[in-house]
Amino acid sequence: MSKHPSQAYAGGGGIPHAASQDTGFFGHPRGLSTLFFTEMWERFSYYGLRPLLVLFMAASLAQGGFGFDRGQASAIVGIYGSLVYLASLPGGWVADRLLGLRRAIWWGAVLITAGHFSIGLSGLAGQGTAGKVCFFLGLLLIVCGTGLLKPNISAIVGDLYPEGGARRDAGFSIFYMGINLGAFAGQLITGFLGERIGWHWGFTAAGVGMLAGLVIYTLRAPGTLGDLGSKPTLHPDPAVQARQEGQIKMVLMGIAAVIALVFILAALGMISLDAQVIGGYMTFVLVGTAVVYFAYIFMFGELDGGEKKRVAVIVVLFVFAAIFWSAFEQAPTSLNLFAADFTDRTIGGFEMPATWFQSINSAFVILLAPVFAALWVTLARNRGDLSSPAKFSAGLFFAGLGFLLMIFAANKVVAGGGNVLVSPWWLVGSYFFQTVGELCLSPVGLSSMTKLSPRKFVGQMMGIWFLASSVGTLIGGLVGGHVDPEKLDQMPRLFTTTTLSLMIAAAVLAALIVPIRRMMQERPAASS
Ligand code: GLN
Repeated sequence: MSKHPSQAYAGGGGIPHAASQDTGFFGHPRGLSTLFFTEMWERFSYYGLRPLLVLFMAASLAQGGFGFDRGQASAIVGIYGSLVYLASLPGGWVADRLLGLRRAIWWGAVLITAGHFSIGLSGLAGQGTAGKVCFFLGLLLIVCGTGLLKPNISAIVGDLYPEGGARRDAGFSIFYMGINLGAFAGQLITGFLGERIGWHWGFTAAGVGMLAGLVIYTLRAPGTLGDLGSKPTLHPDPAVQARQEGQIKMVLMGIAAVIALVFILAALGMISLDAQVIGGYMTFVLVGTAVVYFAYIFMFGELDGGEKKRVAVIVVLFVFAAIFWSAFEQAPTSLNLFAADFTDRTIGGFEMPATWFQSINSAFVILLAPVFAALWVTLARNRGDLSSPAKFSAGLFFAGLGFLLMIFAANKVVAGGGNVLVSPWWLVGSYFFQTVGELCLSPVGLSSMTKLSPRKFVGQMMGIWFLASSVGTLIGGLVGGHVDPEKLDQMPRLFTTTTLSLMIAAAVLAALIVPIRRMMQERPAASS
């Protein structure tokens, strides 16, 4: 059987890859620094663009925007964010079966860079059809590129630690810090350029960031990653492998043809798309995709008993992660509106832009990620590894605390008849608890996918992980959009529902910790 290079250790019998002995990057393998900086720039570009999108599309023609209706503009952003994460599924699949993780990441970086420059260049093409084609083509390229890059770069992080365990969790916490360094800088820099100098300067800056990531990856990957992720997992039977490749190519071409058709018809003005209606239907499509995917893996994935149990654990983690993200991804919607409309943002006579509140979360991650990385290692040393469901349950609980604060804040606003501005500390406090929750769940979730997934599906399981973000981003967008300064009483209700959902989910998962631990027991010796 032709083995994937990293399969040598997946069964527990092989020699761990040399990367695990390498401690050149803060005690971690040097390959982590390559992945850290590549992902940092990718997130710089993603989060740098995101807040500009809605402002730009909704800005009037005179202000250089497209003059779209606000509801449509924000629904487009919701669909875009959701598609970015959804694309992880085919992206992981292509890497597992066709390209290998490494090449998939490289192509992803190329497509994302091209996408940002296409959006940047749309400024030269004007605000008419040509400009819109460049703009939406750019978004499409970013969706495809992120699908290839994001799940697979995370999967290679896992590969750096064949021994698994707390050190891998710590590695993911450091990686997560890179994500948020990029997010933090992106939101400040491209936001400033886009809003103060000109939209397309902001867009182009995001592209320059991704180009930096592409250059770093191209130059540093060969020397620091060894042969990790350099080949796809091939089926032992070449005939089956060839058939699978054929199937993948056909499905991809089918998807591309449908997208191209819709794109061309919309560009020619032959169909008009209502983003809000599409967004509503998409929730069902996403949940349906998860159900079909898991059913397929269980029935046709050729899994043994232990693998089936671990995939069942992934299903559970997926559901609870989707609940978490549905709350957390309200940051750019309901919490953003709360910052804009009901928060006192003046400090010493200077009024902070509402969008600055978006980077509070990244700032807390940067401050707290090292603490958490150390915490997991210390906990593991002293009292044994906390299991992933235990950490997830804590994550949901802390996010619940964050939204609990928002109930009080919202009630203050309602008591004041909507005419009071509450202290910014409510939001800061809420983001603090949400970030603590995020750090219990998100890096741990990434790490768990690499541990629990059967080796041959690891890229796809990362895709599944991001499918939970896709569902959450969409729901966070749809419910967050319901916050309306005209209908004040909706606001405490939204935050109460969110808090209750999180707390109930935390309690249910806490009750499941012991049975899940038992299911996780049967695992490959090398991957704890
Ligand atoms: N902020 C993290 C990232 O960008 C997680 C986002 C998510 O998965 N919803 O990777």
